[in-house]
Amino acid sequence: MMLKRLSELYGVSGDEEEVRNFIKLQIKDDVDDMIEDAYGNLIARKGKKKLPKIMLAAHMDEVGFMITAVEKNGLLRFRSIGILPQVVLAKRVAFRNKDIKGVIGAKPVHQLKPEEQKSIPEPDQLFIDIGVSSKEEAEKLVQVGDYCTFDTRFRRQGNTIFGKAFDNRVGCYVLIQLIKNYDLPCYYTFTVQEELGLMGARIAGYRIDPQIALAVDTTASGKWPTEKDLPQYPELNKGPAISIADRSVICDKELTGLIIKTAQENSIPYQFKRPMIGGTDAGEIHLVKRGVKSAVLCTPARYIHSPLSIASLKDIEALIKLLNLSIKKILTRGELWN
Ligand code: ZN
Repeated sequence: MMLKRLSELYGVSGDEEEVRNFIKLQIKDDVDDMIEDAYGNLIARKGKKKLPKIMLAAHMDEVGFMITAVEKNGLLRFRSIGILPQVVLAKRVAFRNKDIKGVIGAKPVHQLKPEEQKSIPEPDQLFIDIGVSSKEEAEKLVQVGDYCTFDTRFRRQGNTIFGKAFDNRVGCYVLIQLIKNYDLPCYYTFTVQEELGLMGARIAGYRIDPQIALAVDTTASGKWPTEKDLPQYPELNKGPAISIADRSVICDKELTGLIIKTAQENSIPYQFKRPMIGGTDAGEIHLVKRGVKSAVLCTPARYIHSPLSIASLKDIEALIKLLNLSIKKILTRGELWN
C-alpha cells in the first residue's frame, strides 16, 4: 500500500531526500516535466502551460529530531522539530539510512523524586539513548546534525489507518493520486521544511508564480471527554476539512466558495477546519509577487505531531474526489482568476 510506504519513509524537515526520491519514482511517467530546486522542493508539471496556473502544494517533511551534541557517556542531545516533550518520553526512534535504533530516555519510576513524578521534563532534560556507553562508541554510529524520527509501523484496520508522518505524507499521497489518475494541468509541488516555517513553499511559489494555490495538508482532529460541549476540531469520517482562515492566511472567499459548492453539488462530505489556528504552505504562497488566491484542504488526523496518528481512508478518498472536481471547475472559469 502506497500510504504505508509514504508513512514509513524518513523525512524530517531539512532531510526530505528519501521521500523526494520515492515520489519521483512514483510520478515520473505521468508528468510532463519535473524539477528539483536548489532548496529541495520537487515541482512536477502536467499538461499545457496555460492560464490560470494552479499550484498544488503538499509538504514532504515530518516532525522529528536533529542530533545537536554527543555526551561523554554516549547519550545524544537533540533539537525537536515540531514535537513537544509530552509525547516523546520512552518512545522508540530510528535513524535514516542506518540500522540504528534508539529510545528517548526517561528516568524509570524508581529514580524519580515525588515532585518529578508530577511534571513533564524540560526539553534539556531529555536525551536519545542508542545503547552505547561512550562518546567514542556513539560517534562511530551517529554524528551531530543527523536526523531521526519515531520508529512507528503503519497499520490498517478497515477504513482506519494508523502510522507516523500522516502530516503530511497523506497530502503527498493525495497529489500522487491526482497525478496518476486524472488529467489535470497543474503544478504539483512537494515542498520541504514546512514544519520549520513554510520555507520550501515560499521559494516554490516564487518560481511557479501561480494564479491559484491549493495547499493540501492534514489538520488536528479529536474530541476529548472534557471538551464535550466544545466540538472544536474536525472529526474523522466526516470528510476533508476546508479552511476559512488560519493563523497564516485568510483563504480566498471566491475560491473556497467554489470548492464548497463543488462538494455540495456532488454530495461529497466536508467540514470546516476548526479552530482557526495553525498554518500551511498557503501561508507563504498567497504572499508571492502580486498575491495568489489560495485555499486550504486538509485530511483530519488525530494526534498529529506525535509518534502515531490516526486517519480515515474515506476522508482521503473524498479529498481526492473534491480536488479533482474543484480543479476542473476552476479551469472552466479561467477568466475569473487572471
Ligand atoms: Zn502539515
